[in-house]
Amino acid sequence: MFEKILIANRGEIALRILRACRELGIRTVAVHSTADTEAKYVKLADESVCIGPAASNLSYLNVPAIISAAEVTDAEAIHPGYGFLSENADFAERVEQSGFVFIGPKAETIRLMGDKVSAKDMMKASKVPCVPGSDGALPDNPKQILAIARSVGYPVIIKAAGGGGGRGMRVVHTEAALLNAVATTQSEAQAAFGNATVYMEKFLENPRHVEIQVLADHHGNAVHLGERDCSMQRRHQKVIEEAPAPGIERKLIEKVGERCAEACRKIGYRGAGTFEFLFENDEFYFIEMNTRVQVEHPVTEFITGVDIVQAQIRIAAGETLWFKQRDVEFRGHAIECRINAEDPFRFTPSPGKITNWHMPGGPGIRVDSHVYNGYTIPQYYDSMIGKLIAYGDTREQAIRRMRIALSEMAVDGIKTNVPLHQELMLDGRFVEGGTSIHYLEHLLADRSELKPG
Ligand code: ADP
Repeated sequence: MFEKILIANRGEIALRILRACRELGIRTVAVHSTADTEAKYVKLADESVCIGPAASNLSYLNVPAIISAAEVTDAEAIHPGYGFLSENADFAERVEQSGFVFIGPKAETIRLMGDKVSAKDMMKASKVPCVPGSDGALPDNPKQILAIARSVGYPVIIKAAGGGGGRGMRVVHTEAALLNAVATTQSEAQAAFGNATVYMEKFLENPRHVEIQVLADHHGNAVHLGERDCSMQRRHQKVIEEAPAPGIERKLIEKVGERCAEACRKIGYRGAGTFEFLFENDEFYFIEMNTRVQVEHPVTEFITGVDIVQAQIRIAAGETLWFKQRDVEFRGHAIECRINAEDPFRFTPSPGKITNWHMPGGPGIRVDSHVYNGYTIPQYYDSMIGKLIAYGDTREQAIRRMRIALSEMAVDGIKTNVPLHQELMLDGRFVEGGTSIHYLEHLLADRSELKPG
């Protein structure tokens, strides 16, 4: 096992990784910007190194500074968390070339999965179900493009191979609009991602977002840890996640999960990863793979009892996966609410000093947050300040516990989206379960009509 790990991230995930390291008896190095000097995990870490000013591109994205910090502290491995450099293949390569272990898959795997066209090709080869569409990148010939769209059937979506974060996509409803849309997406993709390659998919009108968590080791073993439903989204950002996904047959999950594990074996995947799918009319359609730990990993930890962050570290250290698929048992139901420092109605960020911070507790409640009383939330980063996770034997119990936990939460000095979560936990359609990725947006549109200004 490693003796010392450098945590190349900030916020709640930095604290989550630190806790995993401590339990494994590993010493930690926190790297931070000048804006995060007062963060809890920086103080809790065995060592800390300031790697630059507040702006992320000069600190959390500053590869030479992070590598130097690992060198001066004699760390053996680097955990990238999520966001920032976590899916940057060049960073993974630099880390390994500098003699450290990158806690994640090989750089070439990140690169393969980062290109959506090559990722989809790989998935098709492993019989992971994909959205029908063009066979790889769109050809140049307009006649061929029109023919592909005709065979896929309208509406279609044009997507950039190098796209990410909900950018580089365009929905097309009619043949008359197709060629223009392809050309615009190509030039936008070139400008934004330095890669003009685009491909076409059938546009699914009312899907759910259901993803499968996997773990794979260096020795060809891979398992899946079931699914998460992350359909509650605003502007492609997940707001609430849960596991299992309401109303989907276990047999179907097992089947798709096994395909994902098989794909991992085939591509030599290692570490934790997530296969994201759209789910419509009882069918799964692969859209992309995330080659890192995800924000919503705790709901899976609750229902499987597997510590996903510790698993990442143990796998990176070369351990053989210590359990088999048949050992994975799914128990109960877990729901996560992302707590953001933002106005609950207008969604404008609300950084500043927290003058009162009181967190809930009780059976089945978990709070993952780096925030504390008197802490000042810097304005420079993502507005998520923590995650509240509730577990129950049933979905009903998890929702009841979440409602109580939200009511116990007290945060003063800044605005949070807690009132929105309280509303959603009482929403009839959410309580029923199985809403689509458009549900929250529609609900918010109706709400803003009721509450002008
Ligand atoms: P990104 O990497 O930018 O997040 P994804 O491929 O994961 O891109 O797609 C982001 C979102 O775009 C999905 O969660 C879904 O809401 C929408 N989307 C993508 N592909 C389709 C499709 N074929 N049909 C309908 N919606 C889609």
